Amino acid sequence: MADASRELASANNNSICASLNPDGKYVGQCAAFCGTALEEVTEVGDAVSFTCHAGLECRAVPIADAGQRLVAIVGRTFIKAENYRRATERAISGDWSKYPPSEFFENVLLTGSLSEIEKAAEKVTAEIESVEEVELPETPIEQPVEQIDGEQPEPTQPEQEISVPPNAMNAETQAWRAFFGSLLKTDFQRATESILEFLAHHYGFKALVWLERSNGGFENRAAYGEMKGRKVRLGIAADDHRLVEALQNEMPLELGERHGPDDAVRTMNLFPIGVAGEISAAVATLDKIGTESGKKQIARMCQSIAPQLEILRLRSDVARRELIGGAVRRFSDGIKSVETDDLWLSLTQNAAEILQAERASLLVYDKPTESLDIKSIIGSRNEFDPSQESGTRVAKVIFDRNEPVIVSDISKTGLPPVDERGYRSKSFLSCPVTIGGNVIAVMSFTDRAGGKPFDKESLELFQAIAPQLAVSIDRATLKERAGEFEQLSVTDALTGLLNRRYIEERLMEEIKRSNRHGFPMSFMMLDVDEFKSYNDQFGHPAGDEALKMVGHIIRETLRGADVAARYGGEEFAILLPQTISEEAVTIAERIRSNIAETAFPHRRVTLSIGVASCSAELCLAENIVSAADKALYHAKHNGRNRVQAFEDMEPGNAN
Ligand code: GH3
Ligand code: MG
Ligand code: MG
Repeated sequence: MADASRELASANNNSICASLNPDGKYVGQCAAFCGTALEEVTEVGDAVSFTCHAGLECRAVPIADAGQRLVAIVGRTFIKAENYRRATERAISGDWSKYPPSEFFENVLLTGSLSEIEKAAEKVTAEIESVEEVELPETPIEQPVEQIDGEQPEPTQPEQEISVPPNAMNAETQAWRAFFGSLLKTDFQRATESILEFLAHHYGFKALVWLERSNGGFENRAAYGEMKGRKVRLGIAADDHRLVEALQNEMPLELGERHGPDDAVRTMNLFPIGVAGEISAAVATLDKIGTESGKKQIARMCQSIAPQLEILRLRSDVARRELIGGAVRRFSDGIKSVETDDLWLSLTQNAAEILQAERASLLVYDKPTESLDIKSIIGSRNEFDPSQESGTRVAKVIFDRNEPVIVSDISKTGLPPVDERGYRSKSFLSCPVTIGGNVIAVMSFTDRAGGKPFDKESLELFQAIAPQLAVSIDRATLKERAGEFEQLSVTDALTGLLNRRYIEERLMEEIKRSNRHGFPMSFMMLDVDEFKSYNDQFGHPAGDEALKMVGHIIRETLRGADVAARYGGEEFAILLPQTISEEAVTIAERIRSNIAETAFPHRRVTLSIGVASCSAELCLAENIVSAADKALYHAKHNGRNRVQAFEDMEPGNAN
């Protein structure tokens, strides 16, 4: 039995069952399948085949002369890629995601066909019969590796059997077995590389490529020897019938290629790797393989690792999704506590961190001007960075195409070249950010940490955070526009000057700044002289027209940093940051004379101005406003059309 059980181990214990049915008592979904196998076999009186809830193919075999107390369930293996995929989905994001994926799929079986299960079932039957011939009937039958009616066998060490021809049990095969056993200890990428290395070292291959199924075709995943750094483009679909046949026949597919000046024909041997007739990868070589049996042996070797590779693929899938999930969480945490001022910068920094890019830029589309505006750039080495311009050109291309671009070497593309001085690596990732199919922004990344080029995984990561990025960008754009509206709400409609609310806020700010840094500042109040009579004589609309002109003259007379506001009615206020009293008086005088000298439509218009300045004792908002007001009152009192500085007033008048 011991010897026999090893052979049977080709369909060995399956840990999916152990996870789904941990105590072996057939609770839950397993109860409806393996749990009823004994009854069904008893009823039918023969072996019964079924596909269980997990998608595993099983065959329940009655054990002869055991009074139908026992049934061996053979198989418990995926034979349809579709079922395996469904199980993978359930384990990654469905109802099985509670099981730790590494344990759950530790030893998943992917058997090629039903006939293998049939064979295994026959073997079980034969073994049980032969065991019973030599052993006493009363003796409890030693359980084969297969599960027997609800009783979980002792966990057996999974045996990694490979199917090599019996006559090929040579040193190579021994080495392959040892290598094969170690495959599951590594990750998918490393496994593909080490398979190529193994084939190269043991068979002397000089040029090998690992081609992985991708979008119906193949893409290069790993290369060995002369194929390193070379792109292999196969004009063959992954489900091409010739490849499927090659897989079934355990032979490579030979593809001829003309090359060189003498039009020599070069042959590429393509060894398909797949499970259940579905090709998942292929090993390609340009080396000549001497004999047919040599080809067959390598084909079988490649084929024998398919299930292991599926497990590694699944693991890397799970790991990648976990990585992406983590990245999305980190990104949303990162942008949650962001000050509005820094939103663009923070979005760029957070995205760059997720993509491990040392340099990144964010360009946002501005609808009114139909332009892509640079909102933030991080990691620029010098302030004048010429690469910005070419970066913008790349972004424009991406914007127009609405397609992401991963460039491992920008000089080999039709894209505008990026200035090399600024870029350590020439690898570049540029992605559109869309809302409802419309591109709202373009993000570009370069200088990946560690000097690695950006790849498909980088793009996948970006696409995972893109929805959040899009919403944040959209919200920030709206906020900016709201800021523009706010601008409107602080502006006086008649004169176009700022309003009282605004200047009062600015005044508080400026006083604080002035106190903190010891800057001087001045403030003035202006009032149109005898304006009531202007209105009375020429009508309110004419009065409005005159106020508009006053506002215009004030603005024209001031400097850039000065803040002028219509304080109310025919009163104006001006804030002059970093301006001492004398300067303020000069400016006030200029305004006064400009107004007085301007020809208004109906009659001469003048105003009176009171000026107050910040000094050690006088830096509270009410104080400076009331001081200016007092000075203004003084100016009026002294005959109008004049400027009065609070500081120049006699103490008696100042109170
Ligand atoms: P004084 O120089 O002493 O301040 O004389 P005044 O006539 O300007 O004084 P008062 O404050 O009594 O009158 C202000 C007038 O300004 C009252 C109102 O008719 C006029 N006024 C205030 N706001 C507006 C406005 O928005 N449009 C127009 N057309 N007139 C306004
Ligand atoms: Mg007034
Ligand atoms: Mg007035």
